[in-house]
Amino acid sequence: MNYSIAIHGGAGTLVKGMMTPEKEKAYKEALKEALDSGYSILKNGGSAMDAVEAAVISLENCHLFNAGRGSVFTSAGTHEMDSSIMDGKTRKAGAVSLITGIKNPVRLARDVMERSEHVFMAGEGALEFAKLNGHEILPSDYFYDEFRYQQWQEIKGSDAFQLDHSKKKDSKFGTVGAVACDQNGNIAAATSTGGMTNKKFGRVGDSPMIGAGNYANNETCAVSCTGSGEFFIRGVVAYDVSCLIEHKGYSLEQATEEVIQHRVLELGGDGGLIAVNSKGEIALSFNTEGMYRGFKKSDGAENIMIYREDSSIS
Ligand code: ASP
Repeated sequence: MNYSIAIHGGAGTLVKGMMTPEKEKAYKEALKEALDSGYSILKNGGSAMDAVEAAVISLENCHLFNAGRGSVFTSAGTHEMDSSIMDGKTRKAGAVSLITGIKNPVRLARDVMERSEHVFMAGEGALEFAKLNGHEILPSDYFYDEFRYQQWQEIKGSDAFQLDHSKKKDSKFGTVGAVACDQNGNIAAATSTGGMTNKKFGRVGDSPMIGAGNYANNETCAVSCTGSGEFFIRGVVAYDVSCLIEHKGYSLEQATEEVIQHRVLELGGDGGLIAVNSKGEIALSFNTEGMYRGFKKSDGAENIMIYREDSSIS
């Protein structure tokens, strides 16, 4: 049985030559570490759920990505994080939003799924649940990053908000995610984000919304998105990919390309997604200049990529 994993660290205006070689190397190393942490679980017969959780935790612990430790600043100078996880076998899901001080939001999302009767918890209530379930609440300096702080200073006090990963202020996306297919053909998806720099009014994007930024169903696919959340919510993007496979008989590749290259663009949004199915096939689609991404399959295929021109699958 084929097994595989794919990860992303956000999409955006990632143009070759814009980043120093050192920075590029650091991103690739971090992506590789996350990919390997998930893949080794699959290789040892572990579940897709454990693999996506491990990969996302690795990315959340890295300050380079806008999730967990590297989360961007809100307009109030805090870090509000969102995350979700879904099991394609049972279609059970867990999600958290507007949480602060939690080291690994994806772990909390999984606890919501496994230790409560609910799917989605937010804000103060989610933190209360976190404490009851043994999650450590970290002081805000754990989440401090000079680069993120400067990103916030540029627009602080204005009405502007900003996505991550770009020089162009209006097209920076940063979110992390993982999708995996295990040796039993079960699939799962997990997504985690700090959202947008300078966000306010309790703004929530697509990442913690099941069906929008994250979805998994063994019969169709597992999907994790990154991009302009408002449009991904309106496009119900992750579920739309699943619907095209279920109702129109599209292949994984056709479905992801239709949604990202046509439907999201028609709405006015941009970004990308990663997807896997129970055969272990993988699709990585984006309509931006680049997307931090990587995949590893049991047939030996493996790659870590940033830019559009970086070769893709196989
Ligand atoms: N989709 C995320 C959000 O809107 C942001 C991102 O992917 O960078 O919160």
